[in-house]
Amino acid sequence: MPQLEVLGNPLNLPSNPNIPKRWIISENDAEIRIAWPSSTDSSKEYTLLVLKLDNSIHCNCKGYQHHFHCKHIRRFLEAIKEVKKPKKGVSDTSRESYHKTDINKGQSAVLATLQLLGPATGRELARNLGWSINRVTGRVRELVEAGKVEEQSEKTFDKETKRSVSIWQAVGGYHGD
Ligand SMILES: [Zn+2]
Repeated sequence: MPQLEVLGNPLNLPSNPNIPKRWIISENDAEIRIAWPSSTDSSKEYTLLVLKLDNSIHCNCKGYQHHFHCKHIRRFLEAIKEVKKPKKGVSDTSRESYHKTDINKGQSAVLATLQLLGPATGRELARNLGWSINRVTGRVRELVEAGKVEEQSEKTFDKETKRSVSIWQAVGGYHGD
């Protein structure tokens, strides 16, 4: 299935980004959540999620789920270029604490979806990402092996397949709200 290769290509945050504090909803060791207003509907707001593992940026809008990029991420990246950089030193040090690993793009998309959605089954992930269930299952298995995703102790009943299925959650990333 060659078309799988072009999917899962999220954009990355540039090094030393200077994100204004007022844009940030929350930040922890695993992620930064950024509020991004809709340009067409002022009552609407999207959540951009930066995974610190690989600095990939994800969005919870519909367009992102199909293309792995969207105008919110593009505008955010444009906007942070405009923000004045602080004097060298402060942000350099904080960048060093971003633990980089060699997580791949597909894994990063699955992990970001779990962090945005909260715990989900493989089928829910597949629906959200627009992927085949097999592609999701492969990435979930890799993330479990890497210690980034874990299985919840309780299973849930899947009406479609009439089987009890696992619920996956991001390790340490999703704290609920
Ligand atoms: Zn978006």
